[in-house]
Amino acid sequence: MKIICVGRNYIEHAKELNNSVPKEPVLFLKPETAIVPKKNPFFIPDFSEDVHYEAELVVKINKVGKNIQEKFAHKYYNQLTVGLDFTARDIQQKQKEKGLPWEIAKAFDGSAAIGKFMEISELDNPEDPTFSLLLNGKKVQSAKPSEMIFPIHKLIAEISKYFTLKIGDLIFTGTPKGVGKLTKNDQMHLYLEEKEVLQLNVK
Ligand code: ZN
Repeated sequence: MKIICVGRNYIEHAKELNNSVPKEPVLFLKPETAIVPKKNPFFIPDFSEDVHYEAELVVKINKVGKNIQEKFAHKYYNQLTVGLDFTARDIQQKQKEKGLPWEIAKAFDGSAAIGKFMEISELDNPEDPTFSLLLNGKKVQSAKPSEMIFPIHKLIAEISKYFTLKIGDLIFTGTPKGVGKLTKNDQMHLYLEEKEVLQLNVK
C-alpha cells in the first residue's frame, strides 16, 4: 500500500505558512514504513527541532482505479478516518528554499498516524463530516471537507492520473489551519464528528 498526501488544500493553512493557493493539488507520497504502529506513541525524531502536527481527513481506497473520473470517484472508497501528517518543518523549509524534494521532512519513519476507520454510511453528516484535533485537551484544528480547495472526488481524479490507486491505499487530504510544534509528553486526540478515532502520546 501507499499513502498519497495533499499539500495546501485549505486556504487559511496555505496563508499561515506563507504559501500561495495552488491551481492544482500539491501531491507527495509516504511509504508504508511511515505508519506509527498500533498502540505506539509518536517519537519526535532526533534530526528535527520543529516537528509539527497536521490533522487530516484520511480516505481509504477500496477498489483499483486509474484515470478515475470525478463523477465516479465516490465508488472508490467507503471509509474515512482522521490521521496525522507529522512534518519536520525546519527540514521542509530548508528543502523548499533549495527546491529539493520533501520526503526527509514528511515521509520519515513514524510520520503518519492513522485513526480507526469509520464507514461513511455510519456518519451523521456523510457528505461533510467535521474532524478535529485536541492537543492536551484544547481544540487546535477543526475542519470539514466543504472547506477544501480540492474536494475529495477531485483529488481522487487528479491523483489517479499519475498513480494507480489500489485497495488499501490511503489519501491524506491536507491539513486545515492551526498546525503547530509538538513537544514531549503532548497528548493528541483525534475526532471524526463526535467519535474519537485516535489517541496518541508524544515521546
Ligand atoms: Zn499535510
